[in-house]
Amino acid sequence: MATRVVDVLVPVALDQTYSYRVPAEMELAPGDVVAVPLGARDCVGVVWADNPNPNPRLHNRLKDVDAKLEVPPLKPELRSFVDWVSNYTLASRGMVLRMALRMGDLGPMRERVGVRVTDVKPQRMTPARQRVIAALADGFVRSKNEAAQEAAVSAGVVNGLVDEGVLATVVLPLEPLMRAPDPDFRKPEFSLAQLAAADALRTTVDQGGYTVSLLDGVTGSGKTEVYFEAVAENIRRGHQTLVLMPEIALTAGFLDRFAHRFGVRPAEWHSQLPPRRRARTWEAVAKNELPVVVGARSALFLPYADLGLIVVDEEHDAAYKQEDGAHYHARDMAVVRGSIAKFPVILASATPSVESEVNARKGRYRRIHLPERFGGAHLPHIEPIDMRTEGPPRGRFISPKLAEAVQIVLEKREQALLFLNRRGFAPLTLCRACGFRVQCPNCDSWLVDHRFKRRLVCHHCGYSVPPPTECPKCHATDSFAAVGPGVERLHQEAADLFPGARILVLSSDLVESIERLRAELDDVAEGRFDLVIGTQLVAKGHHFPRLNLVGIVDADLGLGNGDPRAAERTFQLLHQVTGRAGREEGRGVGYLQTHQPEHPVMRALIMGDREAFYQNEIEQRERTGYPPFGRLASLIVSAGDKHAAEAYGRTLVSLAPKDEQVRVLGPAEAPIAVVRGRHRYRLLVKSPRAYDLSGYLRDWLAAAPKTKGNLQLEVDVDPMSFF
Ligand code: ADP
Ligand code: ZN
Repeated sequence: MATRVVDVLVPVALDQTYSYRVPAEMELAPGDVVAVPLGARDCVGVVWADNPNPNPRLHNRLKDVDAKLEVPPLKPELRSFVDWVSNYTLASRGMVLRMALRMGDLGPMRERVGVRVTDVKPQRMTPARQRVIAALADGFVRSKNEAAQEAAVSAGVVNGLVDEGVLATVVLPLEPLMRAPDPDFRKPEFSLAQLAAADALRTTVDQGGYTVSLLDGVTGSGKTEVYFEAVAENIRRGHQTLVLMPEIALTAGFLDRFAHRFGVRPAEWHSQLPPRRRARTWEAVAKNELPVVVGARSALFLPYADLGLIVVDEEHDAAYKQEDGAHYHARDMAVVRGSIAKFPVILASATPSVESEVNARKGRYRRIHLPERFGGAHLPHIEPIDMRTEGPPRGRFISPKLAEAVQIVLEKREQALLFLNRRGFAPLTLCRACGFRVQCPNCDSWLVDHRFKRRLVCHHCGYSVPPPTECPKCHATDSFAAVGPGVERLHQEAADLFPGARILVLSSDLVESIERLRAELDDVAEGRFDLVIGTQLVAKGHHFPRLNLVGIVDADLGLGNGDPRAAERTFQLLHQVTGRAGREEGRGVGYLQTHQPEHPVMRALIMGDREAFYQNEIEQRERTGYPPFGRLASLIVSAGDKHAAEAYGRTLVSLAPKDEQVRVLGPAEAPIAVVRGRHRYRLLVKSPRAYDLSGYLRDWLAAAPKTKGNLQLEVDVDPMSFF
């Protein structure tokens, strides 16, 4: 009988599979996870296909599959998904597969071992040993750690007693990652609008099949409560649910709300899970033991046994775009996964992406609308502060009008939030004597003054130095001045303006741990702070019942940097942040400090006219052929040597296949021309919407010379960032 040969995809940066012989006693089918030799090492791969006609000349040189792993096979829908994502993003299939195989260290689970006392007497007695025996005298089993902790001894003491037989070991069962959720645990009383929306979503899930619903509701309208009804229906039907969140670190509130509604916490998936938990979660997902997973974008690649619904919360959020390795957009790929495996997808947002808004307008997505805040709360009233005429004195950043409004809120014992999307103390440090600006040696950027850390830091590469005491150029001493504000500087100003107020600064660089951040957010929600000063860390999804004023310190910050999505992003961000105000009590108010109150984004925010923003933005995109009316891809060439990068960029342009539907722009120096010592050039490729831009790129790049040395080419289809 002829030996069987299979093609195995391995998680390295390659598109093609490798062929292996199947040992006679091994049963293998496509999807099986296997260990195979690759070069000098062993790696885990996945059988992608049978190979009925292996090349006979190579046959004898083929290596054998080492082993089949004892995990469920990757289902055809996940394998198709890997192929699809790779084909669309141009990331190699191996790299995409790698995201699906990020299971950490599988293999036999380390058993949790417990101990209990026996009748054996210790050979010698010490105070430490006595404490252990006393702690266990009740006869109950404890884990070794618990026993050691309770008796305040080291693990060695416990192990010593085990060796002498004084303690016996017992294998403890692993605690389950998630108990069964109860879809009827605590159903809310819905308003009429919520009821209609919940019914629509429930029906969608009940009918099954691929559909996309855009749950479009103002901040505070109860979107979460409403999509929980879809989740409940999916649980009743026995399928798995994935809820995607832009930043899992910030979703403590979500886990609690889920537990409140369903009686148990869902399983979590994100990059900071400890390896053991990662492995257990991966396996439990594959064995259909986890009904609901809440995760960051990478949760999209888990090997669900029976996924029946994906909810993408805050679907407009830019954090869904992965910018390194495989460049993919998790919201778009969630829709793809739904269409391949034929189940419903729900996108939720108060400020839908322009893409989703257009899809809803054209009827490709079904819009489910929640027009009002729950419980009669009002959307905040937005008031502009014209910094040209009403600005603060020089060197200050909080205008008198904003300061007065904050003061009033504080006197009423309510909370206020000052928002500035800039970490650190000041974005620029300048020598007053000669004008020298402190720059990063590796990047085309200024160093940001971080006073809490007492360092100047590069936000692109992380380089940092202590603040210089003398100017390296003119040698003046004590001549450096901080220019512009960051949250730390605002803190200083606010402490001056509002003495006695309890102020908390929330900024990602000040976050020591996720637990700490979660505790701080709880403190805010429970009113232990009066004034929060924060970056976009505070913009997302939090519910602070006593927060009634939001001041946007620099509303213009994200505009006018040549980024085609600047207007959309600014609108979404400012709408979200001001939406934190007045979610429960009274009427919230948002202040926008701006130099351009007449800008369409500011006007739409001030008038509370979301439609005006979308209308304006959609018309503009249609006119210029920007997404979603056209397709974009960006190619970034980078190298240590500037000329090498530019030359390769030019070579690429000269090799671009001629096609009148495609425009290739560049190479142009990227807006941030040097990052981590690498010079960067950018090509922008534009095509009509109906055009297969990924196919074009693939043909083009196949003909391009291989990148050599430290030259790098990054391909970003549907780019979100343009720096
Ligand atoms: P969104 O996600 O649309 O901003 P949320 O789902 O966070 O809104 O709801 C805002 C607040 O209103 C939350 O505290 C939520 O618990 C509460 N809420 C919404 N709908 C109801 C309801 N039907 N019954 C009780 N509380 C509700
Ligand atoms: Zn740098």
